[in-house]
Amino acid sequence: MGTKGRELVKMDVDELIELLNKALADEWLAYYQYWTGAKVVEGAMRGEAEAELIEHANDELRHADMLVERIIQLGGVPLLDPKEWYEKTNCEYLPPTDPSVIKILEQNIEGEQCAIDVYRKLTELTRDKDEITYFMVLEILKDEVEHEEDLQTLLEDIEKMHK
Ligand code: FE
Ligand code: FE
Ligand code: MG
Repeated sequence: MGTKGRELVKMDVDELIELLNKALADEWLAYYQYWTGAKVVEGAMRGEAEAELIEHANDELRHADMLVERIIQLGGVPLLDPKEWYEKTNCEYLPPTDPSVIKILEQNIEGEQCAIDVYRKLTELTRDKDEITYFMVLEILKDEVEHEEDLQTLLEDIEKMHK
């Protein structure tokens, strides 16, 4: 990292890199959970659900990219081995073993609620201490809030079909 850039960070950089790597593990697992869920999903409004899941998968991959860029900029090494995703994750991976659309949406809502907690903590931690990371995690938090709402709305619409 550039020396002047490093001076901007008023917190333990190694600790910050570790937390960003943990979030990176979450993003990869979220990406795969959405991507594979979109492939296997069955039931009401399958097309809509598939499109939403794929859109979110792409967002999670973009988040992973943002995190890696910042980790490298801070002088860190991003997780290099997928084995580490399971060791470092905050939000776990929920395999879509039951392909029903309701179950898949519920699992992904759970993941988003965990992601919201992770990024809210990261915004609190970096606010006034590392503005560059702060604005990045705030942008990701905004996406995760949108994801949760999208999935809950879709789930409510599907549930209404049964009434
Ligand atoms: Fe994400
Ligand atoms: Fe998300
Ligand atoms: Mg969406």
